[in-house]
Amino acid sequence: MRIGQGIDAHAFREGGNLVLGGVNIPYARSMEAHSDGDVLLHALCDALLGAAGLGDIGQHFPPGNPEWRDIDSRVLLRKTFAMVGAEGYRVLNADLTVVAQEPKLAQYIGTMREYISTDLGVTADQVNIKATTTEYLGFTGRGEGIAAFAVVLLED
Ligand code: MG
Repeated sequence: MRIGQGIDAHAFREGGNLVLGGVNIPYARSMEAHSDGDVLLHALCDALLGAAGLGDIGQHFPPGNPEWRDIDSRVLLRKTFAMVGAEGYRVLNADLTVVAQEPKLAQYIGTMREYISTDLGVTADQVNIKATTTEYLGFTGRGEGIAAFAVVLLED
């Protein structure tokens, strides 16, 4: 078995579409990013790559490459999972945390789990997603952006 962790953070910008865990979330702001800015899926990709010893998301999907501009991060997740699968690994479980003062995310967690477990070829109970605030502390607490953390366990 192999474990991997991933961390990502993006700043807010006014307007646009906020996407977290592949889910469109109604909100006045979205993430400043080259892709769709899905911090949760980016953290998960890094955890998968880390567990498989395959480097990081920036190496495989360089932000300067026009191919990845505004791309749906579920496409990146599926490509990442394919690389990990090609090394002979399957996912045992993933545990993900989104850190955001707002918006409230509880009602979207179920759909995120559904999307992510589908993309990883596992059942929803193998993907846990938590959302937390930081009680107004730090950049997430001040509402300047969103952070995400992921750990993944792989088995070959
Ligand atoms: Mg990112």
